[in-house]
Parts: sequence; C-alpha cells; structure tokens
Amino acid sequence: MIERFGHDKIRLVECPVCGIDLRNKRVSHHVASHRPSEFGLSPQGVIQ
Ligand SMILES: [Zn+2]
Repeated sequence: MIERFGHDKIRLVECPVCGIDLRNKRVSHHVASHRPSEFGLSPQGVIQ
C-alpha cells in the first residue's frame, strides 16, 4: 500500500479505500474524494 523510495520517503501507491493504483494520480486529490469515515477515521475532534 505504501512504497519506500529514497532514504526516508514513502508514498501511498494504492488507495486504502477503493484499492485504485495511485502511482500515476494525484494522491491528495484522490484521497480528498473520500470521506474520513471511509478510512476508518472519526470526524475531526471526535474521539471514539
Ligand atoms: Zn480511493
């Protein structure tokens, strides 16, 4: 799901929600198209 490149860099190469290959996409744009809850995250400020 993440790929190491270089000495200390990693990047997302596959979307954890829909599994799409992100290597040739803008990861931030794609990830922003999902909701936080789809990543198993709580809304900001909510602790569960
Ligand atoms: Zn996705």
